[in-house]
Amino acid sequence: MTESKITQLQPLPGDWQRALAVVAHPDDLEYGCSAAVAAWTDAGREVAYVLATRGEAGIDTLDPAVCGPLREREQRASAAVVGVGTVEFLDHRDGVIEYGTALRRDIAAAIRRHRPELVVTLNHRDTWGGVAWNTPDHVAVGRATLDAAADAGNRWIFPELVEQGLEPWNGVRWVAVAGSSSPTHAVDAAPGLDRAVRSLLEHRTYIEALTDQDPEAYVRDFLTETTTATGKRFGGTPAVAFEVFGR
Ligand SMILES: [Zn+2]
Repeated sequence: MTESKITQLQPLPGDWQRALAVVAHPDDLEYGCSAAVAAWTDAGREVAYVLATRGEAGIDTLDPAVCGPLREREQRASAAVVGVGTVEFLDHRDGVIEYGTALRRDIAAAIRRHRPELVVTLNHRDTWGGVAWNTPDHVAVGRATLDAAADAGNRWIFPELVEQGLEPWNGVRWVAVAGSSSPTHAVDAAPGLDRAVRSLLEHRTYIEALTDQDPEAYVRDFLTETTTATGKRFGGTPAVAFEVFGR
């Protein structure tokens, strides 16, 4: 098992200026890595978010036509808390995102628009570790993002993008996968942890539908537990883990 081979996590490379995070749903970034995003924007780096869906199928009691716009507003507010002003939606359908060339092309186009050195995505693997099964949307978007990092640099894979004025961008140096069952690297979560809590709390409608607990206690407990657990493999400081694929 690869998990057991890596005992200590390495610091994520820091010599970059622009990051693009590509995930399936509103809240995917806030459940794991917004403490890292806060640290990056504090350091003057640019981070933009691209979401494949508006999370319109995420709340049982809300019709998708109502839920989508509401979750979009919550996502923009939660991004703003950690210094991210650019949030785009690709308008794939929540719950039934299909891995394939349409998704790869949309993500490659976003990479060409934003020209990041670091791309961040969410767990593309089958499980969260052990027998905690991942969802098909996360697997599809994670895999398509890993693929699109290369597609974005190839003029001939999606020639229609060049016709639209999106020249190839071959500058992605790493794809960092949050929530992976096989992490390799980490980012200190301590400076950004309070903002990460506030950022996740912005998804209030979703969280109130999810748990009977007080939302703030639920969010703080969740993020404290996960960052403390990662910190055991990162010198004892709370941390956000990533599986990093170099390019
Ligand atoms: Zn999700």
